[in-house]
Amino acid sequence: MSILGLGKQQPPLKTKDCPECEGKGYIICPECDGKGKFYPFNSISYCYHCNGKGKYTCDNCHGLGWVKVN
Ligand SMILES: [Zn+2]
Ligand SMILES: [Zn+2]
Repeated sequence: MSILGLGKQQPPLKTKDCPECEGKGYIICPECDGKGKFYPFNSISYCYHCNGKGKYTCDNCHGLGWVKVN
């Protein structure tokens, strides 16, 4: 009589750096070049693309910086 499953290790999950964000988990906003805001006519306007943050979470890896390898 054997005990199935006991002591059997799951193989380690294979991951790789996210190619979209190069492993950072976020993407520098291309609209504002990471600044988050513009200064037109001596006023401040926040970048609509990144909500003034200058970067946004990578959709491809959801901010993790890595993706599973199939
Ligand atoms: Zn932006
Ligand atoms: Zn990513």
